[in-house]
Amino acid sequence: MTEYLLKILIVGDGNVGKSSFVHRYVSGQFNKTYKMTVGGQERFISMTRLYYKGAMGCIVMFDVTNSTSFQNCHYWKQDLDNKTMLPNGRPIPCILLANKCDLSQWAVKAESIEKFCKANGFLTWMETSVKDNKNVGEAMRRLVEEALSLE
Ligand code: GDP
Repeated sequence: MTEYLLKILIVGDGNVGKSSFVHRYVSGQFNKTYKMTVGGQERFISMTRLYYKGAMGCIVMFDVTNSTSFQNCHYWKQDLDNKTMLPNGRPIPCILLANKCDLSQWAVKAESIEKFCKANGFLTWMETSVKDNKNVGEAMRRLVEEALSLE
């Protein structure tokens, strides 16, 4: 048996569900009170090169009820691609996750997501609900599969 250690990143605006996603994937649980909601986190923060270093895959996440968090995905992807690449010079495989799909007030159209996904070099996009455990494992599987195929 061969073991692999892969560094997978997850980026996106505050409050979109990143910590919940990691917690769900690792422990299988969803805790509504995991972190208190703090307003005013819909913003892009440039990360350091060191954060990105050695990553083999990346998730860019937004909240379907928050259009600003979707628009900012552009900056998150750009920041990633500007600061790091695979050893073979290709961009880091990246998947776009439309989280909180369990909520009814979508502020972003599926066709806009599709268009953005294609135009910005994502592998694919998926709607996820960390709350309902929808597509969490599937998204990670897709990303890991891609990362391993590039090894
Ligand atoms: P982060 O700042 O991106 O790490 O976001 P958090 O993981 O702290 O989540 C922010 C808030 O969104 C929390 O109150 C979570 O309970 C909630 N949340 C996360 N994922 C979902 C989801 O799929 N559906 C719903 N309805 N709420 C979610």
